[in-house]
Amino acid sequence: MALPERSPVSFVVEGERLRTVDSSTSDDVWLLPGLVDVHSHAGMEKPGDAYDHTMFREHMLAHRSAGVLTVRSPGSPDPVLDRADEPDLPRLVRAGRWLATPGRFFAGYGRRVSEEELVAAAVEEASVGWCKVIGDWMPDDPPVPLEVLTSLVEAVHAAGGRVAVHCQTAEGCRNAVLAGADSLEHGMHLDHSLLPRMAAQGTAFVPTFSAIAKTRSGLDASSDARFREWILSGWEHAFPTVRAAHEAGVTVLAGTDTKPCGQVAAEISWLIKAGMPVEAAIGAGSWTARSWLGLPSLVDGGLADVVAYDADPVEDPSVLLRPSRIVLRGKVIA
Ligand SMILES: [Zn+2]
Repeated sequence: MALPERSPVSFVVEGERLRTVDSSTSDDVWLLPGLVDVHSHAGMEKPGDAYDHTMFREHMLAHRSAGVLTVRSPGSPDPVLDRADEPDLPRLVRAGRWLATPGRFFAGYGRRVSEEELVAAAVEEASVGWCKVIGDWMPDDPPVPLEVLTSLVEAVHAAGGRVAVHCQTAEGCRNAVLAGADSLEHGMHLDHSLLPRMAAQGTAFVPTFSAIAKTRSGLDASSDARFREWILSGWEHAFPTVRAAHEAGVTVLAGTDTKPCGQVAAEISWLIKAGMPVEAAIGAGSWTARSWLGLPSLVDGGLADVVAYDADPVEDPSVLLRPSRIVLRGKVIA
């Protein structure tokens, strides 16, 4: 059975492509076009790290062994904008370097630019497909001004690129939506009244529960009281927001933004806990994410990226942790 159609189908692999064939035999397996993590920074372990290509390969191989065959990297310390995909690694959708204006992002990290330089820098970084803008930072700091973000989105779209915005404050989220960003990363404290607009203009929401859970578990008595309250209230708010976003027709996607790599099944279970229907939550980390990134799923002539499971993931999502067969670019990996 192939998801999401849930109809019996047989494929053969021709080179890097799938062909559907008639077959009378049926193996009782469930097929996905691989999992997708739309928020993972391969090649660095923690903020401040330089890009390390050996580590990049290790991270991408960890994704691959978990059945994650496509990764979007919304921000990288890699200054090389045009690295080619390596054939044994998952498909990588790039967003250049993080674009950080003064007072925003980890001190000294990412590509540092002034607000005046931001639009031109975003167009440059987006030459790889996407750019990633740090739209806000700490709870009471001002976000990137709406006029700047609006000009940035217009310029990047005019150049054929897409824009991912890091936003965790209500104001930062509002500016990202009003500017017409393609995705909100984290979206903590997102005001529900913006959801219909996100759905109408096609702005996706990547709540990164895995990353916020990690920040939350790192809070202790020494944490700044305002920061602590902001994270805890943002965490509580994220659950009803994900459910409301899905119900409003917003594309909600699975991105982990955490290490170790290869944990997108855990992010899918957070989406389920938040109240997304199981099939939609799996799609958020598989076929829906692929289609959003412009990649076909399990269709005749589609790319031969296939992960097989022994049981129906919609009946039992924990089976996502146990792929029985992994095929990437037509090659059997496991
Ligand atoms: Zn991130």
